[in-house]
Amino acid sequence: MKITDVKTIRLRAEIPPEGQVFSRSGVRNCRSTTLVQVDTDEGVTGLGSCSGNGDLVEVIVAKVLKPLLVGVDPIEIDEIWEKAYVRGGHKEFGTRGVGVVALSGIDIALWDILGKVRGVPVYELLGGKCRDKVPVYATALYPEEPSKVAKRARAFAERAFHGVKIKVGFDLAQDIRIVRAVRAELGNDFTIMTDANQGYTIDVALKAAEAFSGCGVFWLEEPLFVEDIAGHAALREKGKVPIAVGENLHTYYAFENFVVRDAVDFLQPDVARAGGISEIRKIAVLAAKHSIALSFHTWGDGVALAASLHLSAALKQCGVMELDYTYNPLRAELLQEPLEVKNGFMVPPDNPGLGVELNRDALERFVFSGVEELTIRPSALRSP
Ligand SMILES: [Mg+2]
Repeated sequence: MKITDVKTIRLRAEIPPEGQVFSRSGVRNCRSTTLVQVDTDEGVTGLGSCSGNGDLVEVIVAKVLKPLLVGVDPIEIDEIWEKAYVRGGHKEFGTRGVGVVALSGIDIALWDILGKVRGVPVYELLGGKCRDKVPVYATALYPEEPSKVAKRARAFAERAFHGVKIKVGFDLAQDIRIVRAVRAELGNDFTIMTDANQGYTIDVALKAAEAFSGCGVFWLEEPLFVEDIAGHAALREKGKVPIAVGENLHTYYAFENFVVRDAVDFLQPDVARAGGISEIRKIAVLAAKHSIALSFHTWGDGVALAASLHLSAALKQCGVMELDYTYNPLRAELLQEPLEVKNGFMVPPDNPGLGVELNRDALERFVFSGVEELTIRPSALRSP
Protein backbone atom coordinates (compact mmCIF):
# COMPACT_ATOMS: atom_id res chain seq x y z
CA MET A 1 0.00 0.00 0.00
CA LYS A 2 1.26 3.47 -0.84
CA ILE A 3 0.27 6.97 0.23
CA THR A 4 -1.06 8.89 -2.78
CA ASP A 5 -2.05 12.21 -1.21
CA VAL A 6 -2.05 14.18 2.07
CA LYS A 7 -4.78 16.82 2.20
CA THR A 8 -5.63 19.45 4.79
CA ILE A 9 -9.23 20.47 5.41
CA ARG A 10 -9.54 23.66 7.42
CA LEU A 11 -12.68 24.11 9.48
CA ARG A 12 -14.22 27.08 11.18
CA ALA A 13 -17.46 27.54 13.13
CA GLU A 14 -18.90 30.82 14.36
CA ILE A 15 -19.76 31.06 18.05
CA PRO A 16 -23.00 32.95 18.74
CA PRO A 17 -22.75 35.70 21.41
CA GLU A 18 -24.41 33.52 24.08
CA GLY A 19 -21.72 30.83 23.56
CA GLN A 20 -18.71 33.15 23.67
CA VAL A 21 -16.43 33.00 26.71
CA PHE A 22 -13.83 35.42 28.02
CA SER A 23 -10.45 33.76 28.30
CA ARG A 24 -6.84 34.89 28.35
CA SER A 25 -7.05 34.88 24.54
CA GLY A 26 -9.77 37.52 24.73
CA VAL A 27 -13.37 36.90 23.69
CA ARG A 28 -13.43 34.43 20.83
CA ASN A 29 -16.21 34.42 18.27
CA CYS A 30 -15.16 31.30 16.34
CA ARG A 31 -13.65 27.86 16.72
CA SER A 32 -11.23 26.55 14.12
CA THR A 33 -9.29 23.37 13.49
CA THR A 34 -7.56 21.54 10.64
CA LEU A 35 -8.24 17.98 9.56
CA VAL A 36 -5.69 15.90 7.67
CA GLN A 37 -6.76 13.23 5.22
CA VAL A 38 -4.21 10.65 4.07
CA ASP A 39 -5.23 8.81 0.87
CA THR A 40 -3.80 5.50 -0.35
CA ASP A 41 -3.66 3.58 -3.63
CA GLU A 42 -5.91 0.86 -2.13
CA GLY A 43 -8.76 3.25 -1.41
CA VAL A 44 -8.28 3.27 2.37
CA THR A 45 -8.17 6.79 3.80
CA GLY A 46 -7.14 7.99 7.24
CA LEU A 47 -8.34 11.02 9.17
CA GLY A 48 -6.38 13.09 11.65
CA SER A 49 -6.67 16.44 13.39
CA CYS A 50 -4.23 19.29 13.98
CA SER A 51 -4.59 21.76 16.84
CA GLY A 52 -2.70 24.82 15.64
CA ASN A 53 -2.83 27.69 13.20
CA GLY A 54 -4.47 26.36 10.02
CA ASP A 55 -2.59 28.60 7.60
CA LEU A 56 0.73 27.36 8.92
CA VAL A 57 -0.31 23.70 9.14
CA GLU A 58 -1.52 23.83 5.52
CA VAL A 59 1.78 25.20 4.26
CA ILE A 60 3.90 22.69 6.20
CA VAL A 61 1.81 19.73 5.04
CA ALA A 62 1.84 20.87 1.41
CA LYS A 63 5.45 22.04 1.18
CA VAL A 64 7.33 19.72 3.55
CA LEU A 65 5.41 16.64 4.69
CA LYS A 66 3.36 15.60 1.67
CA PRO A 67 6.41 15.47 -0.65
CA LEU A 68 8.17 13.25 1.92
CA LEU A 69 5.21 10.88 2.35
CA VAL A 70 3.70 10.30 -1.10
CA GLY A 71 4.76 6.83 -2.29
CA VAL A 72 5.53 5.56 1.24
CA ASP A 73 3.69 2.61 2.87
CA PRO A 74 1.33 4.21 5.49
CA ILE A 75 1.67 1.17 7.76
CA GLU A 76 5.36 1.95 8.32
CA ILE A 77 4.58 4.61 10.93
CA ASP A 78 7.94 4.51 12.74
CA GLU A 79 9.76 4.80 9.44
CA ILE A 80 7.55 7.76 8.49
CA TRP A 81 8.54 9.51 11.74
CA GLU A 82 12.19 8.85 10.96
CA LYS A 83 11.78 10.41 7.57
CA ALA A 84 9.34 13.23 8.40
CA TYR A 85 10.86 14.32 11.73
CA VAL A 86 14.13 12.74 12.86
CA ARG A 87 16.08 12.72 9.59
CA GLY A 88 14.19 15.30 7.58
CA GLY A 89 11.26 17.45 8.67
CA HIS A 90 12.64 19.11 11.79
CA LYS A 91 15.40 20.70 9.74
CA GLU A 92 12.68 22.61 7.88
CA PHE A 93 10.20 23.40 10.66
CA GLY A 94 12.12 22.95 13.92
CA THR A 95 11.86 20.32 16.65
CA ARG A 96 8.75 21.88 18.27
CA GLY A 97 5.79 23.96 17.18
CA VAL A 98 3.51 23.90 14.20
CA GLY A 99 5.51 21.31 12.26
CA VAL A 100 4.88 18.85 15.09
CA VAL A 101 1.22 19.91 15.08
CA ALA A 102 1.01 19.02 11.37
CA LEU A 103 2.76 15.70 12.00
CA SER A 104 0.33 15.00 14.86
CA GLY A 105 -2.61 15.08 12.46
CA ILE A 106 -0.81 12.90 9.93
CA ASP A 107 0.17 10.40 12.63
CA ILE A 108 -3.44 10.09 13.83
CA ALA A 109 -4.51 9.49 10.21
CA LEU A 110 -1.88 6.75 9.82
CA TRP A 111 -3.20 4.94 12.92
CA ASP A 112 -6.71 5.30 11.48
CA ILE A 113 -5.48 3.59 8.30
CA LEU A 114 -3.66 0.87 10.26
CA GLY A 115 -6.83 0.06 12.22
CA LYS A 116 -8.91 -0.06 9.05
CA VAL A 117 -6.40 -2.36 7.33
CA ARG A 118 -6.30 -4.73 10.31
CA GLY A 119 -10.06 -4.43 10.88
CA VAL A 120 -9.75 -3.36 14.53
CA PRO A 121 -10.31 -0.14 16.47
CA VAL A 122 -7.26 1.92 17.44
CA TYR A 123 -7.61 0.93 21.11
CA GLU A 124 -6.99 -2.70 20.06
CA LEU A 125 -3.83 -1.64 18.22
CA LEU A 126 -2.72 -0.06 21.50
CA GLY A 127 -3.09 -3.33 23.38
CA GLY A 128 -6.81 -3.32 24.09
CA LYS A 129 -8.96 -1.46 26.57
CA CYS A 130 -7.89 -1.35 30.18
CA ARG A 131 -11.13 0.50 30.99
CA ASP A 132 -14.49 0.15 29.24
CA LYS A 133 -15.46 3.77 29.74
CA VAL A 134 -13.41 6.90 30.21
CA PRO A 135 -14.25 9.27 33.10
CA VAL A 136 -14.34 12.90 31.96
CA TYR A 137 -14.31 16.27 33.65
CA ALA A 138 -15.85 19.43 32.18
CA THR A 139 -14.01 22.53 31.06
CA ALA A 140 -16.60 25.26 30.84
CA LEU A 141 -16.19 27.62 33.80
CA TYR A 142 -14.87 31.02 32.77
CA PRO A 143 -14.66 34.23 34.83
CA GLU A 144 -17.96 35.83 35.76
CA GLU A 145 -19.80 36.65 38.96
CA PRO A 146 -18.73 33.92 41.49
CA SER A 147 -22.32 32.91 42.27
CA LYS A 148 -23.00 32.41 38.56
CA VAL A 149 -19.88 30.26 38.14
CA ALA A 150 -20.93 28.22 41.18
CA LYS A 151 -24.37 27.66 39.69
CA ARG A 152 -22.88 26.50 36.40
CA ALA A 153 -20.53 24.17 38.30
CA ARG A 154 -23.53 22.69 40.12
CA ALA A 155 -25.11 21.75 36.79
CA PHE A 156 -22.02 19.74 35.79
CA ALA A 157 -21.91 18.01 39.18
CA GLU A 158 -25.55 17.03 38.77
CA ARG A 159 -24.74 15.51 35.38
CA ALA A 160 -22.16 13.27 37.11
CA PHE A 161 -19.05 14.76 35.52
CA HIS A 162 -15.88 13.62 37.30
CA GLY A 163 -14.81 17.17 38.05
CA VAL A 164 -15.05 20.74 36.82
CA LYS A 165 -12.24 23.04 35.76
CA ILE A 166 -12.23 26.73 36.58
CA LYS A 167 -10.30 29.20 34.44
CA VAL A 168 -8.08 31.38 36.64
CA GLY A 169 -4.92 33.38 35.88
CA PHE A 170 -6.67 36.74 35.77
CA ASP A 171 -6.99 38.85 38.92
CA LEU A 172 -5.89 36.72 41.88
CA ALA A 173 -8.47 38.06 44.35
CA GLN A 174 -11.25 37.38 41.85
CA ASP A 175 -9.81 33.93 41.01
CA ILE A 176 -9.87 33.02 44.72
CA ARG A 177 -13.42 34.30 45.19
CA ILE A 178 -14.60 32.14 42.29
CA VAL A 179 -12.79 28.99 43.43
CA ARG A 180 -14.15 29.42 46.99
CA ALA A 181 -17.68 29.96 45.69
CA VAL A 182 -17.53 26.78 43.59
CA ARG A 183 -16.13 24.76 46.48
CA ALA A 184 -18.85 26.04 48.81
CA GLU A 185 -21.50 25.14 46.24
CA LEU A 186 -20.22 21.62 45.51
CA GLY A 187 -19.13 20.49 48.98
CA ASN A 188 -15.79 18.98 49.89
CA ASP A 189 -15.84 15.79 47.85
CA PHE A 190 -16.26 17.05 44.29
CA THR A 191 -13.12 17.38 42.14
CA ILE A 192 -12.23 20.95 41.20
CA MET A 193 -9.34 21.75 38.86
CA THR A 194 -7.95 25.22 38.11
CA ASP A 195 -6.29 26.38 34.88
CA ALA A 196 -4.27 29.61 34.69
CA ASN A 197 -3.32 29.31 30.99
CA GLN A 198 0.17 30.61 31.86
CA GLY A 199 -1.33 33.74 33.41
CA TYR A 200 0.58 34.00 36.70
CA THR A 201 4.05 35.07 37.71
CA ILE A 202 5.79 32.84 40.25
CA ASP A 203 4.97 35.18 43.16
CA VAL A 204 1.29 35.28 42.29
CA ALA A 205 1.23 31.55 41.56
CA LEU A 206 2.59 30.80 45.07
CA LYS A 207 -0.22 32.86 46.60
CA ALA A 208 -2.75 31.16 44.35
CA ALA A 209 -1.43 27.71 45.31
CA GLU A 210 -1.77 28.60 49.00
CA ALA A 211 -5.37 29.74 48.59
CA PHE A 212 -6.39 26.92 46.25
CA SER A 213 -4.93 24.25 48.55
CA GLY A 214 -7.30 25.54 51.22
CA CYS A 215 -10.12 24.79 48.77
CA GLY A 216 -8.88 21.25 48.06
CA VAL A 217 -8.07 22.00 44.41
CA PHE A 218 -7.07 18.85 42.50
CA TRP A 219 -4.48 20.61 40.32
CA LEU A 220 -3.27 24.01 39.17
CA GLU A 221 -2.75 23.84 35.41
CA GLU A 222 -0.26 25.90 33.40
CA PRO A 223 0.43 28.39 36.20
CA LEU A 224 3.46 29.97 34.45
CA PHE A 225 4.97 30.54 31.01
CA VAL A 226 5.42 27.08 29.55
CA GLU A 227 9.20 27.37 29.10
CA ASP A 228 9.77 28.26 32.77
CA ILE A 229 10.47 24.71 33.93
CA ALA A 230 12.49 25.92 36.93
CA GLY A 231 9.53 28.07 38.02
CA HIS A 232 7.18 25.08 37.82
CA ALA A 233 9.65 23.00 39.85
CA ALA A 234 9.90 25.73 42.52
CA LEU A 235 6.14 26.09 42.65
CA ARG A 236 5.72 22.34 42.97
CA GLU A 237 8.23 22.24 45.81
CA LYS A 238 6.92 25.24 47.77
CA GLY A 239 3.24 25.27 46.83
CA LYS A 240 0.66 22.87 48.15
CA VAL A 241 -1.29 22.16 44.96
CA PRO A 242 -0.30 19.54 42.34
CA ILE A 243 0.90 21.03 39.04
CA ALA A 244 -0.50 20.01 35.64
CA VAL A 245 1.19 20.87 32.33
CA GLY A 246 1.19 19.65 28.76
CA GLU A 247 -1.25 21.19 26.29
CA ASN A 248 1.48 23.44 24.88
CA LEU A 249 4.29 20.87 24.89
CA HIS A 250 5.36 19.22 21.66
CA THR A 251 7.00 15.75 21.47
CA TYR A 252 8.13 13.32 24.14
CA TYR A 253 11.29 15.36 24.66
CA ALA A 254 9.43 18.42 25.98
CA PHE A 255 7.50 16.26 28.47
CA GLU A 256 10.68 14.55 29.57
CA ASN A 257 12.25 17.93 30.37
CA PHE A 258 9.45 18.65 32.85
CA VAL A 259 9.46 15.19 34.40
CA VAL A 260 13.20 14.84 35.00
CA ARG A 261 13.27 18.28 36.66
CA ASP A 262 10.46 17.34 39.07
CA ALA A 263 8.30 20.14 37.70
CA VAL A 264 4.95 18.41 37.12
CA ASP A 265 2.38 16.09 38.78
CA PHE A 266 -0.06 15.54 35.88
CA LEU A 267 0.86 15.33 32.18
CA GLN A 268 -1.74 16.74 29.79
CA PRO A 269 -0.69 16.04 26.21
CA ASP A 270 -2.97 17.03 23.35
CA VAL A 271 -2.89 14.24 20.75
CA ALA A 272 -3.47 16.75 17.93
CA ARG A 273 -0.50 18.83 19.02
CA ALA A 274 2.08 16.77 20.94
CA GLY A 275 2.89 14.39 18.08
CA GLY A 276 -0.13 12.17 17.54
CA ILE A 277 -0.79 8.68 18.86
CA SER A 278 2.81 7.51 18.30
CA GLU A 279 4.31 10.25 20.46
CA ILE A 280 1.64 9.85 23.16
CA ARG A 281 2.65 6.20 23.54
CA LYS A 282 6.18 7.30 24.39
CA ILE A 283 4.87 9.93 26.81
CA ALA A 284 2.80 7.22 28.50
CA VAL A 285 5.94 5.16 29.10
CA LEU A 286 7.57 8.24 30.64
CA ALA A 287 4.53 8.78 32.85
CA ALA A 288 4.52 5.14 33.95
CA LYS A 289 8.22 5.18 34.78
CA HIS A 290 7.75 8.20 37.05
CA SER A 291 4.29 7.25 38.41
CA ILE A 292 2.64 10.33 36.92
CA ALA A 293 -0.95 10.28 35.65
CA LEU A 294 -1.86 11.27 32.09
CA SER A 295 -4.95 13.39 31.58
CA PHE A 296 -5.56 14.35 27.98
CA HIS A 297 -6.09 17.94 26.95
CA THR A 298 -8.92 18.01 24.40
CA TRP A 299 -10.03 21.03 22.51
CA GLY A 300 -10.36 20.98 18.72
CA ASP A 301 -12.83 18.65 17.00
CA GLY A 302 -14.57 15.28 17.05
CA VAL A 303 -11.68 13.51 15.30
CA ALA A 304 -9.17 14.62 17.96
CA LEU A 305 -11.66 13.69 20.67
CA ALA A 306 -12.04 10.18 19.21
CA ALA A 307 -8.24 9.72 19.18
CA SER A 308 -8.04 10.90 22.82
CA LEU A 309 -10.77 8.42 23.79
CA HIS A 310 -8.97 5.46 22.18
CA LEU A 311 -5.80 6.41 24.05
CA SER A 312 -7.59 7.08 27.34
CA ALA A 313 -9.32 3.68 27.17
CA ALA A 314 -6.16 1.77 26.31
CA LEU A 315 -3.34 3.38 28.29
CA LYS A 316 -3.11 2.28 31.91
CA GLN A 317 -1.56 5.57 33.01
CA CYS A 318 -4.59 7.64 31.99
CA GLY A 319 -6.86 9.11 34.60
CA VAL A 320 -9.75 11.45 34.07
CA MET A 321 -9.95 13.02 30.56
CA GLU A 322 -10.84 16.60 29.75
CA LEU A 323 -14.04 17.34 27.86
CA ASP A 324 -14.20 20.86 26.51
CA TYR A 325 -17.82 21.73 27.11
CA THR A 326 -17.86 25.24 25.71
CA TYR A 327 -19.82 25.91 22.52
CA ASN A 328 -18.10 23.91 19.79
CA PRO A 329 -19.98 22.52 16.77
CA LEU A 330 -16.70 21.07 15.48
CA ARG A 331 -16.94 18.64 18.39
CA ALA A 332 -20.70 18.24 18.56
CA GLU A 333 -21.75 18.19 14.88
CA LEU A 334 -18.74 17.14 12.78
CA LEU A 335 -19.15 13.36 13.13
CA GLN A 336 -21.94 11.22 11.74
CA GLU A 337 -22.25 9.69 15.17
CA PRO A 338 -21.26 12.37 17.69
CA LEU A 339 -19.30 11.22 20.74
CA GLU A 340 -21.57 11.69 23.72
CA VAL A 341 -20.99 11.85 27.44
CA LYS A 342 -23.24 9.67 29.61
CA ASN A 343 -23.19 9.90 33.39
CA GLY A 344 -19.72 11.44 33.27
CA PHE A 345 -18.21 8.75 31.03
CA MET A 346 -17.38 8.45 27.33
CA VAL A 347 -16.47 5.40 25.25
CA PRO A 348 -14.30 5.17 22.10
CA PRO A 349 -16.02 3.99 18.90
CA ASP A 350 -15.77 0.24 18.18
CA ASN A 351 -15.45 0.46 14.40
CA PRO A 352 -12.03 -0.11 12.75
CA GLY A 353 -9.46 2.67 13.03
CA LEU A 354 -10.68 5.75 14.87
CA GLY A 355 -14.17 4.49 14.05
CA VAL A 356 -15.52 7.86 12.97
CA GLU A 357 -17.08 9.17 9.76
CA LEU A 358 -17.48 12.84 8.94
CA ASN A 359 -20.97 14.26 8.59
CA ARG A 360 -20.77 15.59 5.02
CA ASP A 361 -23.43 18.27 5.57
CA ALA A 362 -21.62 19.59 8.63
CA LEU A 363 -18.31 19.45 6.79
CA GLU A 364 -19.71 21.60 4.00
CA ARG A 365 -20.89 24.18 6.54
CA PHE A 366 -17.55 24.35 8.35
CA VAL A 367 -14.97 24.19 5.53
CA PHE A 368 -12.98 27.40 5.56
CA SER A 369 -10.48 28.88 3.13
CA GLY A 370 -9.88 32.37 4.53
CA VAL A 371 -7.02 33.63 6.67
CA GLU A 372 -6.77 32.14 10.16
CA GLU A 373 -7.39 34.38 13.15
CA LEU A 374 -4.63 34.40 15.73
CA THR A 375 -5.28 32.34 18.85
CA ILE A 376 -4.07 35.18 21.04
CA ARG A 377 -5.44 38.48 19.86
CA PRO A 378 -3.11 41.47 20.21
CA SER A 379 -5.83 43.30 22.16
CA ALA A 380 -5.82 40.54 24.78
CA LEU A 381 -2.11 40.75 25.50
CA ARG A 382 -1.21 42.31 28.80
CA SER A 383 1.28 41.78 31.56
CA PRO A 384 0.07 39.50 34.35
MG1 LIG B 1 -5.60 24.28 29.81
